[in-house]
Amino acid sequence: MYIGFKVEKNKPYLIVGQGLAGSILAHHFLAAQIPFEIWDDSTTYFTSSHAAGGIFNPVTGRKLEKTWLAEALFDYLPAFYTALEQRLETSFYFPMPLFRPFANAEMRTWLEDRKAQIDHNYLEWTSAGVWVKQAGWVDASKLVLASRDYFTHLGLFHERAFSPSERFAKVIFCEGFHGQNNPLWANLPFLPAKGELLIFQSQQASKEYILSKNGFILPLKDDQFKVGATYRWDEFSNEVTADAQAELRSKLIGMGVTDQMAMETRVGVRPATQDRRPFIGMHPHLPVGIFNGFGSKGVSLIPYFARAFVREIQGEEELPFDVSIRRFAHLFSL
Ligand SMILES: Cc1cc2nc3c(=O)[nH]c(=O)nc-3n(C[C@H](O)[C@H](O)[C@H](O)COP(=O)(O)OP(=O)(O)OC[C@H]3O[C@@H](n4cnc5c(N)ncnc54)[C@H](O)[C@@H]3O)c2cc1C
Repeated sequence: MYIGFKVEKNKPYLIVGQGLAGSILAHHFLAAQIPFEIWDDSTTYFTSSHAAGGIFNPVTGRKLEKTWLAEALFDYLPAFYTALEQRLETSFYFPMPLFRPFANAEMRTWLEDRKAQIDHNYLEWTSAGVWVKQAGWVDASKLVLASRDYFTHLGLFHERAFSPSERFAKVIFCEGFHGQNNPLWANLPFLPAKGELLIFQSQQASKEYILSKNGFILPLKDDQFKVGATYRWDEFSNEVTADAQAELRSKLIGMGVTDQMAMETRVGVRPATQDRRPFIGMHPHLPVGIFNGFGSKGVSLIPYFARAFVREIQGEEELPFDVSIRRFAHLFSL
């Protein structure tokens, strides 16, 4: 059904999907003066970006390792989100320290013994745990909604599903985990992960920092917080599940919050991939491209790779092989 695409150079590009990936790519198209329209059909599809905790954090895992490409990502991220806040005249970027308490005395000793192998650029050690610098969170839902208003005002956004009979110069698909059902990309090794998150009110959590201990508690405003997040790989609806809600409550207790009032649940499916690297690039034989596969790190990965993708589209610099769909060339052979 997608084979009938024709290149029409005088038409704009079409970006399909206006989650975090489509929105941020569109802002980069605008800055590069690439003509485009952006479409999203929120009545048929749902959006991971509205469920995201939105945390960015340069340190990952039990061993306190630097996240993949930390320097490059965290060099671009603050300037990008700050400039976008100004353009959209709203605030959604909240730099904030993140505290990782030692789970127990054994863990503390284990980490202290490994201190020489750990990169300390982003860390500050205390007797109770480590502080991570250059962390924080982005209100991805607010960014997406403000971008929708902005692009609507410019006449560039339309609430529509994609149809292959439309004529555009090229079509870039930013469909999140729904991309695995698009026949063009169905062979790519997606590994989506459903997640739930709870917004709650309490006097017991800290408003000054993000707490990370087998989950996270993130301060919003007044006495409101988010706790997250759950993972499951066996069903991809946007239904709230009793198991996930119980898991979130037990995470809260583990982080010292016993007295809370649940306010709202958010559900989404992370567009994760089997090799944990994004799917970016143009199809080798058709005028279509993909910008997807940002998993549970969309907030930190998407701005950097939107800029890199635009550079490739403009013929300035090829995307690195490990994020480009060139690594799956065998799946696209005619
Ligand atoms: C519970 C949870 C917690 C998370 N926490 C974090 C976090 O702390 N930090 C972090 O960085 N990331 C986090 N994430 C991941 C983050 O949400 C994703 O990385 C990011 O939002 C993906 O954005 P996207 O635009 O690729 O996909 P989506 O946000 O899913 O957007 C895809 C869009 O495409 C539209 N669409 C799809 N197909 C079509 C079509 N054919 N026609 C028209 N429209 C279409 C959909 O309506 C949707 O709006 C979390 C995710 C979940 C679920």
